[in-house]
Amino acid sequence: MAKVSPFHSKANPGKYHVCSNCTEGNNIEPRNKVPGTGGGQLCSRCKELQSSGGC
Ligand SMILES: [Zn+2]
Repeated sequence: MAKVSPFHSKANPGKYHVCSNCTEGNNIEPRNKVPGTGGGQLCSRCKELQSSGGC
């Protein structure tokens, strides 16, 4: 588990991930995974992981 550079799904914009162990982030298909925030909001699970130190 680690904090990584922001990435998001181009198939589902509006949300980005920063935790390598975010289940939702890991569900993004490689072909849809793109770097950056995409102008979206931080994923709530990533936010939780970060605040609990589990990111
Ligand atoms: Zn996430």
